[in-house]
Amino acid sequence: MNMPDLSNSSQANLDKDIQARVSRWVRPAVQELKAYAVPNADGLVKLDAMENPYCWPDALVAEWIEVLKTVELNRYPEPQADKLKALLRQHLGLADELGLVLGNGSDELIQILQLSVGGAGRCVLAPTPSFVMYELTAVATGTRFIGVPLTQSFELNVEAMLKTIEQHNPAVIFIAYPNNPTGNLFRLEDIDKIITATDGLVVIDEAYEAYAESSYLSRIESFPNLLVMRTLSKLGLAGLRLGMLMGPKDWLAQFEKLRLPYNINTLSQISGEFSLRHKSVFVEQVENIRSERELLLGKLAKLAGVRVYPSKANFILFKVAERASSIYAKLLADGVLIKKLDGSAEALKDCLRVTVGTPAENCQFMTALQKALIN
Ligand SMILES: *Cc1c(COP(=O)(O)O)cnc(C)c1O
Repeated sequence: MNMPDLSNSSQANLDKDIQARVSRWVRPAVQELKAYAVPNADGLVKLDAMENPYCWPDALVAEWIEVLKTVELNRYPEPQADKLKALLRQHLGLADELGLVLGNGSDELIQILQLSVGGAGRCVLAPTPSFVMYELTAVATGTRFIGVPLTQSFELNVEAMLKTIEQHNPAVIFIAYPNNPTGNLFRLEDIDKIITATDGLVVIDEAYEAYAESSYLSRIESFPNLLVMRTLSKLGLAGLRLGMLMGPKDWLAQFEKLRLPYNINTLSQISGEFSLRHKSVFVEQVENIRSERELLLGKLAKLAGVRVYPSKANFILFKVAERASSIYAKLLADGVLIKKLDGSAEALKDCLRVTVGTPAENCQFMTALQKALIN
């Protein structure tokens, strides 16, 4: 019961020693980082992370499990994931002349890109607010991150971007298309001006392409510095962690060197192949989500005290004057988890983001939101 003093104090000394060594050795930029926080969603209607809410039909799950039974987990994965890549090329309609690198989610591809062209004395540019991983990975790779604020209506501030390009000559510019967390597609002519003005790379991050009906993929071959990145996550396979980077082969051959040999595990490869052979399931789900998005946009626009922003993704950004925290908490109390953006950046003051769910989930969200707004 009574712990001997000695052990207590030696534990305390050990703790102190650990803390001292951590602060001595972990790079200051990393110590200053806040870990990417994912809230617990147990028992909640989960509308915070842009996931496709639909599961597969039982028969398809049964067929998938049969395929998984054949996997030899004692063996390393196929290092190049050739079969999966061939199916992905078909699915994407990717020209033979273009290269394809796979990542453990597009998050990993963002990291590979910055490991390749970033580092000390170099900088990465992205409009803000945008996807947080561009900055996080910049810090991780010792690359300077420069954010250029979007305009009030969340369009690219082309003039400011061009000025920053001229001043800082960024190694890579990330443009999410549609943008997360704002949901809009930037104007093509604005993006074109940026691609033409910079000497470095431009990566068009098309994580929400399935919902957007607009893409840069067919235009890669018109530029020497354009890459397109996609992912299966928002389509309905977030658990697989499969991202794709496409562009001229000379660029991609360099990035391929930094891809860890077995980054796409066997279960992801096999499941990815299986999914692509049954992609009609996703086509239908995506159509449902798109029409639900339009319904939700219409309903949100009618609410007093809510400003809703246009969306070409599977989520919607909206603003509730001075009440974001309390409305977020009220929704949570009613079992609905969305994303609170208020507090993360000046431009996102009072903003909340909801992922489009199933019709039933969207109803639950709307009911909870209406209730929160009148209370
Ligand atoms: C979600 C998201 C990603 C990350 O996708 P993963 O493939 O799941 O890592 C990349 N870019 C944007 C803009 C996103 O919103």
